[in-house]
Amino acid sequence: MKTFDCVIIGGGVGGMSAAVYAKRRNKNVAIIEKFSLGGEVLELQKIHNFPSQAEIDGITLAQLFSKQIDALGVEVIYDEITSTKLGEPDKTLVGKKDTYVAKSVIIACGMSYIEAGVNENDFLGKGVSYCAVCDANFFKNKPVCVISKDGSGLKAANVLAEVCSEVTVLDEGDLQLFAKANTNKKIKIYSQTKLVKVRGNEKVDGVEYTQNGKIKTLECDGVFISLGRKAKTDIFDIKKDEQGFIITDENMRTSRYGVFAVGDIRKKNLRQIVTACSDGAIAGQLC
Ligand SMILES: Cc1cc2nc3c(=O)[nH]c(=O)nc-3n(C[C@H](O)[C@H](O)[C@H](O)COP(=O)(O)OP(=O)(O)OC[C@H]3O[C@@H](n4cnc5c(N)ncnc54)[C@H](O)[C@@H]3O)c2cc1C
Repeated sequence: MKTFDCVIIGGGVGGMSAAVYAKRRNKNVAIIEKFSLGGEVLELQKIHNFPSQAEIDGITLAQLFSKQIDALGVEVIYDEITSTKLGEPDKTLVGKKDTYVAKSVIIACGMSYIEAGVNENDFLGKGVSYCAVCDANFFKNKPVCVISKDGSGLKAANVLAEVCSEVTVLDEGDLQLFAKANTNKKIKIYSQTKLVKVRGNEKVDGVEYTQNGKIKTLECDGVFISLGRKAKTDIFDIKKDEQGFIITDENMRTSRYGVFAVGDIRKKNLRQIVTACSDGAIAGQLC
């Protein structure tokens, strides 16, 4: 069990910004991140609206943030928080690897990918990915498919077509108009489909899907799940809106004493890098 003044769940730009402010106040602060520092920003090819940068790619921006975290000596723990007790006075966060206790908590978990809900997560890192920009290069000159709903995967398909040999979009909705207008010979678009299962042993070798009531198979080396994002806040017993976004006051305070929420996970009007940083600064100054 590890004890801190403040634990920040999530190492996206909101969480890292909070850490900068908390650490500069000499707080014993840790970021707990389940994947990689940078969060959503890692997926962005070009950012044009981050103040001071006319144009910057997401990976470079994330590296600038994490360099600052490193220089300040913020502890970064790679773990996934799976349950929480947010009562007073100390809060307990249970992760897959360890348990953490903190006087205050900043929730900076962003939004989560919508899963296809079949067996896709058994193949994470073995051919299934949620991020085309991050992982396209692993599938250079190989066929891949994109699981999509009402066009949600078309952007990913274009990114993948730059490096992969063939990209098949399996969309749940009706994309016949897009399919007709598509001029990229590497991209095929199938409508009214539903993923049944990802096939393979050690790694992906294809998918099974339904179309017009028939089960079909497609051979491919990579499967990109691109069904959009949602607020995933079920591990927090806290006040939320009907879509699951955490409700805060203007100081990022939630309905629980000593618990703050910042960035995309909170109810707000504008979900952007600069507003996540602003939220983080406020919470980091008060935690
Ligand atoms: C397609 C797209 C394009 C965009 N373009 C722009 C743009 O051009 N300019 C702009 O300003 N904004 C843009 N945005 C929005 C911007 O990316 C987000 O507002 C911002 O990155 C949110 O930061 P965050 O820190 O709140 O969350 P995130 O960046 O999502 O970070 C959350 C982190 O928490 C981690 N995490 C989640 N749950 C747990 C857990 N249980 N345990 C441990 N760790 C956990 C995740 O792994 C992740 O690293 C775009 C967003 C999208 C989807």
